[in-house]
Amino acid sequence: DEQNDGLYDSKDKVISLTAKTLKSTVFNQPYGSLVEFYNSFCGFCRRFAPIYKKIAEDLNGWKRILIVTAIDCAKDENNAICREFEVMAYPTIRYFSPHYLDGQQKIGKQYRGHSEDELMYQLLGDIQTSKSTTKFWPNLNLFNDTDKRKIFIDDSDDSSIDNEHIKFAFLINENETDSLIGRQVILDLFGYKGFIVRRRKDFDEGNNVLVIERSTGEFEDLGVGYFERNEIVKTIKEYLKEKSINLEQIVTEKSVQLSQKQSTTQTYDGIDDKLDEVILNNVKSMKGKIFQSDLEQAVRFTLFHEVAQFAKIDGRRLTALQQFIAVLVRYFPFGSDGKKFLNDVQDFVMNAGEEIDGHKFLEKLQEFKANRKVFSSNRWVGCASNKPGLRRFPCSLWTLFHFLTVQAAEKEISNDPLEILQAMHGYVRHFFGCTDCSQHFQQMAVKNRIWNVTSKDDAVLWLWSSHNEVNKRLSKDATEDPDFPKIQFPSREMCPACRRKILTNHHNHHQYPIEDENSGNVEWNLVEILSYLKSMYAATNVSRFGVN
Ligand code: FAD
Repeated sequence: DEQNDGLYDSKDKVISLTAKTLKSTVFNQPYGSLVEFYNSFCGFCRRFAPIYKKIAEDLNGWKRILIVTAIDCAKDENNAICREFEVMAYPTIRYFSPHYLDGQQKIGKQYRGHSEDELMYQLLGDIQTSKSTTKFWPNLNLFNDTDKRKIFIDDSDDSSIDNEHIKFAFLINENETDSLIGRQVILDLFGYKGFIVRRRKDFDEGNNVLVIERSTGEFEDLGVGYFERNEIVKTIKEYLKEKSINLEQIVTEKSVQLSQKQSTTQTYDGIDDKLDEVILNNVKSMKGKIFQSDLEQAVRFTLFHEVAQFAKIDGRRLTALQQFIAVLVRYFPFGSDGKKFLNDVQDFVMNAGEEIDGHKFLEKLQEFKANRKVFSSNRWVGCASNKPGLRRFPCSLWTLFHFLTVQAAEKEISNDPLEILQAMHGYVRHFFGCTDCSQHFQQMAVKNRIWNVTSKDDAVLWLWSSHNEVNKRLSKDATEDPDFPKIQFPSREMCPACRRKILTNHHNHHQYPIEDENSGNVEWNLVEILSYLKSMYAATNVSRFGVN
């Protein structure tokens, strides 16, 4: 159990899907589906969640033709389905058109960007072109006939709309090329009896809304005060009310089914048992310790979840995996069974040829783990949180790599100063399921000249300094757990000697930032920092508190 929880719950208009429900919900349905594939631990996904909720809220009126859904790829049970859908970045937004088939091209249409406008623009284009594939569907195409009475004929291809009863047509003119308003209004007012809404583009005329009366063929300007989605919808509704047309929705078999579709309630499976609470309370007062549990959780999640999620591992990605496994083999503090396990994994990835299939990799991991006591814990300890989606895996990944840089510096196994940083860079670049973290990290690696690190001690300091840069950026961010604030590390309390007053004015010669956030006349004492990190991330400082 990964103890992370989804970003959406039953209060939202976003329908939470799982491996069991994804295909049956989005394949071959009379409606279209928007699906967000996310990782609950990814900060960007977390910051994006309110936007996606708002989109779902805004599109809720269209739910007879479109559903808004999401699936958490960070959950182990969804690992295989996210691999099958070839999700390579988080969050990924895809559209599945009505009657989308579980055929060759079964992964949906990928959308670009993450703003409401960008997504809306792509979605409206797709809803527009879905017209030909399904019957009960709004007509978003332009109506440009000069004979406005033809508007009542044009829609007769939709057998579910009883054409006889349509008394009014509203025709929205937009004189801006990229306007979304006309199509949004059509969707907002789709599926009612008694009237239809169409749009046109006449650049010689201003933005306006005409109403055409069927019985007489006459039309007039509705006089919408402010040309905006909600305002137009409101004005049309008021007009209809005046004409004694009740807003009554057309009922189709499928639309009934759909409006009954509820968000599945997700139960919060965060830290709820007593033991975890005890752990959390203790850990808050154990600053400066690291934990076997977190290190193991990092290895478990990287290998069994993140690496296994790739359908195909080849080229540079395969090299990155080989380097990552190699440093684990060298420095990871497993017991003898765990070491045998890692050796087998290494043999496999070194001899697998050009390409590894993620599913095959997972099978191998399970095979190598069978009948061995590889992991001594299956919970977060130093990286625990009582809030869903915070800390946990990303926290353990930092911990793992700090630990590895210190192990490499303390042991004589390799003389390569870049051994760990290179493995980390490759892992983060090719496997870390927090996509924007990965991009930030690669940029930071260039900016902070990762490849110029010349000693193993410098590698320890490089990672410390870069992590602090991330902490600074994320301080007070939505991903901050108030119980574990993002500080310039280590705090004064943890290491008083790590900061000292600046005596001379030699700022420019420093490779690393010389001051912490709020004290201009303080600099890091790198000798003390190094010794602090070496004792904190020492093999002898790994606590077994909380192991099974
Ligand atoms: P973390 O920052 O995860 O730290 C874990 C532990 O490491 C701390 O509890 C502390 O004991 C120790 N520590 C803290 N600072 C240092 C240091 N300077 N040196 C040594 N030890 C230290 N999230 C985003 O939202 N945007 C990003 O761009 C982003 N980039 C990331 C890049 C990488 C490579 C990784 C691994 C994670 C990234 N994250 C990013 C996630 C983010 O940094 C945190 O991991 C996450 O928010 C959890 O924070 P936390 O409070 O548990 O502490």
